[in-house]
Amino acid sequence: MTEESAAQTLAAVIAKLKSRNIRITPQREVILNYLITHHNHPDVETIYQGIADQLPNLSVATVYNTLKLFIDNDIIIELPSTDKDGSLHYDFFGVPHFHAICENCGKITDVFADEYSAINKQVAQLTRQQTNYQVTNSHLEVYGLCPECRQKLNLQKGTG
Ligand code: ZN
Ligand code: MN
Repeated sequence: MTEESAAQTLAAVIAKLKSRNIRITPQREVILNYLITHHNHPDVETIYQGIADQLPNLSVATVYNTLKLFIDNDIIIELPSTDKDGSLHYDFFGVPHFHAICENCGKITDVFADEYSAINKQVAQLTRQQTNYQVTNSHLEVYGLCPECRQKLNLQKGTG
């Protein structure tokens, strides 16, 4: 994403939050900007480390609460833990997409689909029909082995 479009995205999301009477504190703006400009699916600790020098009084609890606020307003999504430490991951969801998650190293990779909304609609419809749930949201994660791990594991097999 170019710097200009990141700034435009930030302004648009701030306008959306303000229209919902959500106060934009400096902390919230910095955390939001970090998420818009980083697509590495960071956990809370990574986000905190990435912005702590800009916000000397920031606490991890504030980062947590701000992430919760953004999730509740459909601005970011929470991804399941892929690490042994159990920490969750966060992703700015400007262009909706699926995720491939490596079961070996925990890497999370974006998967974009033209049919994204059609696929999600179908999953929601099946869920309603079979369970009578009122569906509010869904995210699709695909598990497997990333190319690097595939290569590593193949090499180990070859030499062992
Ligand atoms: Zn991997
Ligand atoms: Mn993503």
